[in-house]
Amino acid sequence: MMKRLLGKVAVITGGASGIGESTARLFARHGAKVVIADIQDDLGHNLCKEIGSDESISFVHCDVTQELDVQTAVDTAVAKHGKLDIMFNNAGISGNMDPRIMALDLDDFHKVFDVNVFGALLGAKHAARVMIPAKKGSILFTASTASVSSGFVPHAYKASKHAVVGLTQNLCVELGQYGIRVNCISPFAVPTPLMIKQLGLKDEQTAKEVVSESANLKEVMLGAEDVAEAAVYLGSDESKYVSGLNLVVDGGYTTTNPTIGHALKNMLS
Ligand code: NAD
Repeated sequence: MMKRLLGKVAVITGGASGIGESTARLFARHGAKVVIADIQDDLGHNLCKEIGSDESISFVHCDVTQELDVQTAVDTAVAKHGKLDIMFNNAGISGNMDPRIMALDLDDFHKVFDVNVFGALLGAKHAARVMIPAKKGSILFTASTASVSSGFVPHAYKASKHAVVGLTQNLCVELGQYGIRVNCISPFAVPTPLMIKQLGLKDEQTAKEVVSESANLKEVMLGAEDVAEAAVYLGSDESKYVSGLNLVVDGGYTTTNPTIGHALKNMLS
């Protein structure tokens, strides 16, 4: 296998589960040194043991809403490996699952923004702190197809992911002068613990059925590893002139409006 991230050092927030976990595995397979930053300590430590026994993968407890934790995660990568090439701000929560405006709860809204927006921005801030002097780096965020299409997700989550795209673009402009690229990835539904909780589903199998039924692209199933592949591309030198991009990984889902098709299908069946 060609090692597309050989010599790179990465921090992945929310790296203990789901998309972050898959990305940590794939980054390591591509030769990157990885620091997993998450609040799920046991999962994070076990994942490190499973991926590799040497110092190339490690875990640091990091609540992305706490600036000191984020600072420590970045400093850990630099102390262990001498630099930071890729900062993947991926940690996220869905918040209150009821999407209706009458269910809006301000505390919940603040929590979602604290993790999904403020936490992501803190990651970018501390990555920039060490990337600016190095005059290179790749900052990534996980947004969502909720940043492109609307409905069925809670307002707080939807707004938070739009904010992530806005920050990606603004940071791309600010940091371009230092050779730092800033991009985000917007996945369609991936059967992870977050998605299962967000849609109130009973298990992973049900989640897969929902994804399969609603997907535009059939005969394949979107998995966390597909999002990880996008992160490898945006973290590697293959994307050396790509910045400010919202890379939508959705099999064309957000380009469709299946409503009329469904109505016709129901009428004709
Ligand atoms: P997940 O729940 O499997 O993983 C999220 C991880 O973030 C967990 O390990 C969790 O412990 C961590 N986390 C939560 N709060 C944190 C905090 N304050 N500090 C540090 N870590 C924290 O979910 P996932 O689906 O892998 O989600 C990853 C990202 O992908 C999120 O930003 C989510 O919004 C986004 N996303 C997910 C989907 C999907 O369908 N699964 C679709 C689009 C976007």
